[in-house]
Amino acid sequence: MNVIKDPETVTEWVKERKRQGKSVGFVPTMGALHEGHLSLVHASKKSSALTIVSIFVNPTQFNDVRDLEKYPRDKGRDLELLGAEGVDLVFLPDVEGIYPDGAEAWVPIDFGTLDKVLEGKFRPGHFQGVAQVVSRLLDIVRPDDLYMGQKDFQQIAIIRKMLALRNSGVRLQVVPTVRELHGLAMSSRNERLSHTDRMRAGKLYEALCYLKCMYEDGLSLRQARSKAAEMLDFPDFKLEYLELCDRTSLSTLDEWGKPGEMVALVACWLKDVRLIDNILF
Ligand code: AMP
Repeated sequence: MNVIKDPETVTEWVKERKRQGKSVGFVPTMGALHEGHLSLVHASKKSSALTIVSIFVNPTQFNDVRDLEKYPRDKGRDLELLGAEGVDLVFLPDVEGIYPDGAEAWVPIDFGTLDKVLEGKFRPGHFQGVAQVVSRLLDIVRPDDLYMGQKDFQQIAIIRKMLALRNSGVRLQVVPTVRELHGLAMSSRNERLSHTDRMRAGKLYEALCYLKCMYEDGLSLRQARSKAAEMLDFPDFKLEYLELCDRTSLSTLDEWGKPGEMVALVACWLKDVRLIDNILF
């Protein structure tokens, strides 16, 4: 497995392989890898000739310095896992390599309301940081396919819009959420929860599933939403939002919409760990 830190060397490496007619799948991550990340690797390996994974804890998408400091890092283990998966290249840049002109040089993208609702409301600036790093990574790697997780639903919407605005030929491939045994969506931040809390955190997905069942049973959205929110009314849990939205615009729905066009999204603190999840209707 190739491990490269220098962006220009990565660009050259890819250019050479593409000249040979090979397709390139790219999986950007912030490391502390788990089965969720590996499912993106599997998807890429299935469809693309070559798979590249980047590991970079991007400072510009953290709106809270403590969250950045506490973010788990384990490069040795990550490389072992990726080696075992048969990944072709791991890109391990540093901040200077990603932002040679300084992170402030970024010209924000106009996402309309997309980056201001839900996560955007609670994490101002987060999605501009995500767009900034993905944009730079795509310029370096220039893949054919970009693999991202449905777990970060709003992030998918942002990147889809960015690719469309830039007329990018990169295809966005969305991979379903991988969950722990009790339903909690896998996340690097889960490492900071005790075993018991990880089990309790399964409540988030339970609440989303409950909402979907109530839709199927014909309960009003207002009633269903408030009952689902009650399921998260427990010691140590602090709900930030639980919303039913239009899948494309992410605008909040006050009434049930059409099947295939809705998504319910939740964000909730469990002690000092912030968890997000979503379910498609
Ligand atoms: P991160 O390292 O958290 O930035 O995540 C890197 C990629 O992995 C993103 O596209 C995430 O959406 C995806 N991802 C994270 N957790 C999961 C999961 N539980 N299931 C599927 N994809 C995930």
